[in-house]
Amino acid sequence: TRAFNFSAGPAALPEPVLRQVQEELLEWRGERASVMEVSHRGKAFVACAAEAERDLRELAGVPDDYAVLFLQGGATLLAALLPMNLAGPEAGADYVLTGHWGEKALDNARVSLRARVAASAKADGYDHVPDPAGWDLDPDAAYVHITSNETIHGVEFRQVPDTGDVPLVVDASSNLLSEPLDVRRFGVIYGGAQKNLGPSGLAVAIVRRDLLGRHGRLLPPIFELLNQVKNDSMFNTPPTFAWYVLGLVLKWMKAEGGLAALGERNRRKAERLYAVIDGSGGFYRNPVRPEARSRMNVPFTLPDPALDPVFLKEAEAASLVGLKGHRAVGGMRASIYNAMPEAGVAALADFMADFARRHG
Ligand code: PLP
Repeated sequence: TRAFNFSAGPAALPEPVLRQVQEELLEWRGERASVMEVSHRGKAFVACAAEAERDLRELAGVPDDYAVLFLQGGATLLAALLPMNLAGPEAGADYVLTGHWGEKALDNARVSLRARVAASAKADGYDHVPDPAGWDLDPDAAYVHITSNETIHGVEFRQVPDTGDVPLVVDASSNLLSEPLDVRRFGVIYGGAQKNLGPSGLAVAIVRRDLLGRHGRLLPPIFELLNQVKNDSMFNTPPTFAWYVLGLVLKWMKAEGGLAALGERNRRKAERLYAVIDGSGGFYRNPVRPEARSRMNVPFTLPDPALDPVFLKEAEAASLVGLKGHRAVGGMRASIYNAMPEAGVAALADFMADFARRHG
């Protein structure tokens, strides 16, 4: 039987989606073949791809002047491609660091333009979001980059910072479509699909169209995001199976009540886990300041690292898997994306309370 899967990504998918995939695996939409075996340029797949885009636009309220791209290469490739697509080599770009993935995005930008750190919480062990009033922003920067949810450190922006006329570029890999958002506040929203939206192998980018094609660089055509916009993300062969599954996840999200309902559910799930941590008399600890605690990834430590393997073993026996923390911060991490049901979080919360009683 399936366990409750708290993996940070690739992560749990909604069970009804997996069942539909199973049902359609051999024969899809009258094609007498699986979705993996038909041309991405054929009628059936083109319709399926367009449907996914329509559903994403509807769910997130994406205006027409934004393109929606479905791409290979994950969030990491986009972290490298966006800088070269948004500005020339002489331009500046401001990076706000709230964890590991912001640092990686900066590393990937530095070769393409003058990327600099406008604010960082590194000195405090990435336990908060620096107050935007104190950010050292360059008004001439091509963009400001943030990571809306740091998957490893468990730090989430709870408000969209105001960067004036400078477009905000956000790596939203681990909180994309987990609550309602105002797309117009952003220049680019991008992320890997493998947490909230579908299988790995696919990344999504929502890009204000006027930001593309102005960099003046000579790029290999496959690096030029405008080519993907002009070709409906089919400049080359897209990851068709991942795109199809993402489409099913979007339909599931609509059926669940859309982003408002999912956002409420996600808030309740996170509150439940933080309540167990804070109510454990110091047995469990989460290092993040309460106002920046992630609703998606809840890292926590036990009083003694020697208890970690015991916790993991007992959790697994209770059908709670994927809880081992990232090696950079140690301890445990419960990732509770859209597809994690409230029953899974309740089971984990009960297990944690019981474990603390027995080992505290
Ligand atoms: N950004 C964030 C916030 C992430 O959590 C991850 C992966 O976990 C990445 C970027 C890298 O994503 P990918 O492996 O799709 O390149």
